Amino acid sequence: MSCIFCKIASGEIPAKTVYQDDRLVVIEDINPAAPLHLLLIPRKHLINVLDLQEVDDQLIGHLFRVAAGIARERGIAEDGFRIVTNTNSAAGQSVFHIHFHMLAGRDLQWPPG
Ligand code: 5GP
Ligand code: ZN
Repeated sequence: MSCIFCKIASGEIPAKTVYQDDRLVVIEDINPAAPLHLLLIPRKHLINVLDLQEVDDQLIGHLFRVAAGIARERGIAEDGFRIVTNTNSAAGQSVFHIHFHMLAGRDLQWPPG
């Protein structure tokens, strides 16, 4: 498997892991775009949201609840944060293993670039 996020999820490639369980790993982005920039990565190799099936519904719900827990723990829940998932080329997806960016710690522009 040549997928970089599969390798991070398995521990083959090191990453700054801030949370993990049987379904997810959450790591610090190597090139942060905000003071807090985490990547929520399902262990299951899905390409992006277009790859999701009904069987994945609980996984994605779990991922968002983990994100909310991290936001509360980190004290960013009240100020606010953003979760985004880039899908295919126009959105700038560069790693084709589904992941959700969690950004916080500065004012985030809307609409995004
Ligand atoms: P995308 O462009 O697919 O939405 O997001 C991919 C993200 O993964 C980028 O923000 C990039 O900085 C991050 N990234 C790519 N390779 C690595 C890596 O080896 N380790 C970590 N921690 N982040 C990575
Ligand atoms: Zn993968």
